[in-house]
Amino acid sequence: MSDFFIIGDPPIEILLRRNSKAKRYSLRISNKDHKVSLTLPRSSNMREAKEFVSSQEGWMRKHLSRQLKPIPIKFGERILLDGKKVFIRRGFEKVVTFNNDSLFVPGAQEDICGKLRAFYKTLARERLMASSDYFAKLLGCKINSITLRDTTSRWGSCTSNGRLMYSWRLVMAPREVQNYVAAHEVCHLIEMNHSNEYWQLVESVFPNYKLNRLWLKTNGNLLHQYKL
Ligand SMILES: [Zn+2]
Repeated sequence: MSDFFIIGDPPIEILLRRNSKAKRYSLRISNKDHKVSLTLPRSSNMREAKEFVSSQEGWMRKHLSRQLKPIPIKFGERILLDGKKVFIRRGFEKVVTFNNDSLFVPGAQEDICGKLRAFYKTLARERLMASSDYFAKLLGCKINSITLRDTTSRWGSCTSNGRLMYSWRLVMAPREVQNYVAAHEVCHLIEMNHSNEYWQLVESVFPNYKLNRLWLKTNGNLLHQYKL
């Protein structure tokens, strides 16, 4: 079996991923690069795979047509910060600074991406650490480490030994959403699942969680629109 195949017109490339634990065929479209991948269960064959993909072609095309175009990172463009679109402007300080409507990036056009990425990462670390510490204190649990990554499928995760991981892109979301994700992960240190008890716990420390969860579901793909 090849690693991808192509269907339809205009053609869609389907990447193949074998997963011996998968029970059925499933399709996924990446928010980051818009690539389509098909998970193949252990007992799979090309004919079945193609039949499955054809049956989903309408859904795929609808989804792909709604995918957002990448926004270039350059002076004069706007980028999300704390849920608001701010201008990227040339700055004259040594470091990236920001006010209500602009981010000031020193240096040349070609360095903007690197500098902004570093800035977003540092800001995310500061914010999410403070927020995670706050909820950990409230719930009496211990955090061992916090890592920032550029994840595509989830905004945060945690392990039973207190290691938290967050996407630094969360600083593009409103502050409340950033705090919600921290509350979500810290609550997992007590309840490692998404049971009713778990959601009650989240609600007890973050009463407004539903709105913020919905914000991420609806707008999360906007955070991946910037090619940082
Ligand atoms: Zn969770």
